[in-house]
Amino acid sequence: MKSYLLYGKKDVRYCDIPYPDDTADNEVIVKIKSVGICGSDIHYYQDGKIGDFIPREPFALGHELSGVIEKESSLYPELKKGTRVAINPSRPCKTCVHCQAEKQNLCPSMKYIGSASVYPHLNGGFSEYIKIPAENCVPLKDFISFEMASLLEPLSVVLHALNLAGDLEGKSVLITGAGTIGQLCHMAASLYTSEPIVITDIRTPALEKATKIGVKAALNPLESDFEANLTSLAPYGFDILLEASGASNILTNTVKFIKKGGKIVQL
Ligand SMILES: [Zn+2]
Ligand SMILES: [Zn+2]
Repeated sequence: MKSYLLYGKKDVRYCDIPYPDDTADNEVIVKIKSVGICGSDIHYYQDGKIGDFIPREPFALGHELSGVIEKESSLYPELKKGTRVAINPSRPCKTCVHCQAEKQNLCPSMKYIGSASVYPHLNGGFSEYIKIPAENCVPLKDFISFEMASLLEPLSVVLHALNLAGDLEGKSVLITGAGTIGQLCHMAASLYTSEPIVITDIRTPALEKATKIGVKAALNPLESDFEANLTSLAPYGFDILLEASGASNILTNTVKFIKKGGKIVQL
């Protein structure tokens, strides 16, 4: 089958790799239909690595994906061949103290598809097919397209952050970073509050996108009237900051715009 493998910095190759036919009883094979490109995928491509995750062998990126069941698991009869599914890319150990406390996202032994965080690396979604535990497949309602479904992984990240932020009703929200995560933060948060939601970024196209999807104000910190605009929208500061830029200096520069007693969630 065909796959796009990351060989190194700015080196992705269109390759033939073996079809993953050796499934265990609890595994299925999914024919992949749509894959999102995460910021981490771009880091792997542009830098050949991300932080401490340094690839030791070629592997397929892509952890935001959807597809249809190609090969069934006898243990999961509800996942018939042809069932449309989104894929949960994380595979926690299920035995550590965090997994036992139902906080699998904190698992230090987490395996993740399309990531060099563990070795051997697990191939991600930029392939024709993927072998995956059946429990990682989430059947899709008819109205959810494959493209929408590939956004469910970043949307899950956002919903977890909103849960940590608590009740949003009547709260103003500042979102730093207007990438996919920041935009999804706005879309989700706007369902829970009618107070101002403001998004910031230094990239004009990202701000234009935010304006298009209806954000109250999309502001550029490099503009001279940035501070005055933010202060006029929330004179006592914002109730909640959702930090979705990943830039190291953002928290230091932004904390003064948060209300005393407000809440900060880093994504
Ligand atoms: Zn990601
Ligand atoms: Zn664990």
